[in-house]
Amino acid sequence: MKVQHHLLIASVLLSSVSFAADGGKKKTTPPEKKKYIDKANMDASVKPGDNFYQYANGNWVKNNPVPASRTRWGSFDELRQESSKRLQSLLEAAATATDRDRKTQVIGDFYKSGMDSLAIEAKGYEPIKADLERLNSITSIAEIVHEVVNLRVNALGSPLFGMNVGPDRKNVMVYIPSIGQGGTTLPDRDYYLKDDARSVKIREAYKTYLQKMFALVGENATTAAVSAASVLKIETTLANAQMSRIEMRDPNKTYNKFAVNDLSKTTPYLNWAAILKEAKINGADSVLVGNPAFLKKVNSMLTEYSLNDWRSYLRWNLIRSAAPYLSHEFVDADFEFTKAQTGQKVPTPRWERMSSLIDRMLGDMIGELYVEKYFKPEAKAYMVNLVNNMQATFAERIKRLDWMSEATKQKALEKLNAFAKKIAYPDKWRSYEGIETTPDNFFKNVKTCAVWFYNYNVSKMGKPVDRSEWGMTPPTINAQYSPSNNDITFPAGILQFPFFDFGADDAVNYGGIAAVIGHEMTHGFDDQGRQFDAVGNLKDWWQKEDADKFKTKADEVVKQYDALTVQDTIHVQGRLTLGENLADLGGLSIAYEAFSKTKQFKEGKKIDGLTPQQRFFLGWAQVWRNNTLPDTEAQLIKTDPHSPGIHRTNAPITNIDAWYEAFDVKPGDKMYKTPEQRTHIW
Ligand SMILES: [Zn+2]
Repeated sequence: MKVQHHLLIASVLLSSVSFAADGGKKKTTPPEKKKYIDKANMDASVKPGDNFYQYANGNWVKNNPVPASRTRWGSFDELRQESSKRLQSLLEAAATATDRDRKTQVIGDFYKSGMDSLAIEAKGYEPIKADLERLNSITSIAEIVHEVVNLRVNALGSPLFGMNVGPDRKNVMVYIPSIGQGGTTLPDRDYYLKDDARSVKIREAYKTYLQKMFALVGENATTAAVSAASVLKIETTLANAQMSRIEMRDPNKTYNKFAVNDLSKTTPYLNWAAILKEAKINGADSVLVGNPAFLKKVNSMLTEYSLNDWRSYLRWNLIRSAAPYLSHEFVDADFEFTKAQTGQKVPTPRWERMSSLIDRMLGDMIGELYVEKYFKPEAKAYMVNLVNNMQATFAERIKRLDWMSEATKQKALEKLNAFAKKIAYPDKWRSYEGIETTPDNFFKNVKTCAVWFYNYNVSKMGKPVDRSEWGMTPPTINAQYSPSNNDITFPAGILQFPFFDFGADDAVNYGGIAAVIGHEMTHGFDDQGRQFDAVGNLKDWWQKEDADKFKTKADEVVKQYDALTVQDTIHVQGRLTLGENLADLGGLSIAYEAFSKTKQFKEGKKIDGLTPQQRFFLGWAQVWRNNTLPDTEAQLIKTDPHSPGIHRTNAPITNIDAWYEAFDVKPGDKMYKTPEQRTHIW
C-alpha cells in the first residue's frame, strides 16, 4: 500500500500546478480527491456491532501483510517508514554537500561513517578489544564495581542497574540521581523464570546467541559455553530480584529516597558516595531507589558468584552494547536473536538503521532540518487551537462528573489548566556543543555521541530543572504525557494523515489527532498520572471517597481488557495496560464531545454515504489498523503497556453510547454492552 500522508506532498504538487498555469498551460481537471475514509479498506460483510475493527479495516488488514524487514505493519509503521526515507534524504544531502555548516557536517559525516560498511568490516571488533582485555583481567570485587561504573561513563554498557539524573518525583524542581533495577538482556523477567514453551524457546535462543557472541570475540567453543552459562546464571538471579512490570506501575512503591551514606549501609560492597563520584554525579546528598531489595541482592551476588562469572557478565554487557556498530558477524548474530524472538524475516536495511540511530543521537540537529523541509507551520497553529479546544471540553466534562466531589474537581481542573504544551518542535534547538564526528570512524562517532549524552545528563545535577526540554525528537510518530512535567508533547511527525490532514473533514481529524490529544491529556488522570499534582509532584490531591470510586471504575476497565485475547488464548494484561486503556477511553470520549461542537457534526451531512458520527469512529479505527507477526504479538502482550490495535479500536467504543447510535448497535450484536455494563470515567 502506498504511503498515506499527503499533507506536504500534495501541497508541493499543487504549487507546481499553479506555476504551470502561469505559463499558460491551465489545468482544468482538479487533482483527484483523497478519500480520508476509504471504503475499499473496510469489510462490509462484517456487522459493525460484531467486530468494529474488522468492519472498518478488514480489507486493509487482508491486503497489507507485514513486510519481510518488519515485525508489524500499520498506520504508525507506514508513517515511520516514510519518515526514515525523509531522514535518509536529508542525511544523504548532508553527507555529499560541499558547502556545509556545523550541523550538516556533524550529521553528514556520522551518516557517511555508518554507511561505509567496508571500513566497519575491516575493523571487526577492534574498537572493543582493549576494553575486553581489561575486563578479563579483573581480580577483585572492587574492580567489578569500578567497571560497572566505568563502562557506563564510557557509554559501553549499563550493567547491574540503571542510573540517571532526573527531577525528584516529590520535588520536581530539583534534580536527583535515581537508581533502578536492570542488568538483564531479555525483554521481560518472565523469560528467565517461566517454563512455558515460549519462554523456554527464547532462553534457548539466548544461550545460542551468547555463545555465538563470545566465540566472535575469540573464545573457543568450550570457553564460550562457560561464559554464556555465567551470564545466564547472573541475569536469572537479577531477574528474580526484579519487580514485575505491573508492580513497577506504582509510583509510590518505586519512590524510595535514601541519604547516600544510608544506602551504602544496606549494600556494603557498593559505596554509593564513591560510585556517584566516579559516575561524575556531583553534589547529591540523597538518591532515589526504585527497588531497594534488588540492590541488596546485587550486593550479595558480588560474593556469591565467582570472579570468572563476573568477568563474563561484564564482557557481555560491553559486547551487546557495541555489537550493532561492529562488523557484520555481530550485526547478523543480533538479528538472528531478534528473529527468534519476534519472527522478523530479514534485517532492517543499513540506511534505515542509520536514520533512526542519528535521529536518536542527534535528534535536534536532524530534526531542525526535517522541520524546515517537511513541516508546515500552519499545522502547528491548527494544533495549538485544537489542543485548547480539547482542554476546554475536558474541563466541561470534569465539571459535569457525577461521581466526583467539588473539592476533587477543583484540584483536577487546576491540574488540567496547568498542562504545558509542546507542539511540533522545541522553541530552542539543542546545539550538542563539543560533539565532533568524522567520516571514517563509525564506532568512535557513536561513542562520542553516547558519552556526550551521558555527560549532558549527569551535568544537570545542581542546576534548575529545565522544563522546556523535549523527550521526543520532531520526526517521531508518537505523542507523550510526562507526569513530572505535567506536559503533553505532539511532535511534527504525528501531525500527518491518518492522524491529521488539512484536507480531511473534522470527523476524521477528531477521530484521529483530537483523540490522540485527549489520550495524552487523560494520562494526567489515569491510574498513575492521577497521583501527580498540577506542578508534577507525586502528591495525593484526591478526597478518599473519590479515589475509591475511581479505583472501582478502573477495576471495571481492568476486567474488560483481561477478558480480551490475541491468537485465541493469549490474554491482554488488564493491569499492565490500564493507564493506556483509560487514556484511550477518556481521549475518545473527550474528542467525540469536542467534535459534536463542529459545523460538520451539527449539519450532519453524509460524505460517501457515511454520517459524521460514523466517520469519527471509522477515523479512530483506521489509526489502529495493523498486522503483527504472531511472535511479536506474544512478546508485546508481555511487555507493552498498550493493548493490541484491534482492542484499542474495539474496547473503548463499547463504553461510548454515541457509537451504539452511530452504527445502530443492538442487543445480540457481539460487542453489545448494556448501559449498566458501560464504564464512564472522564
Ligand atoms: Zn499513552
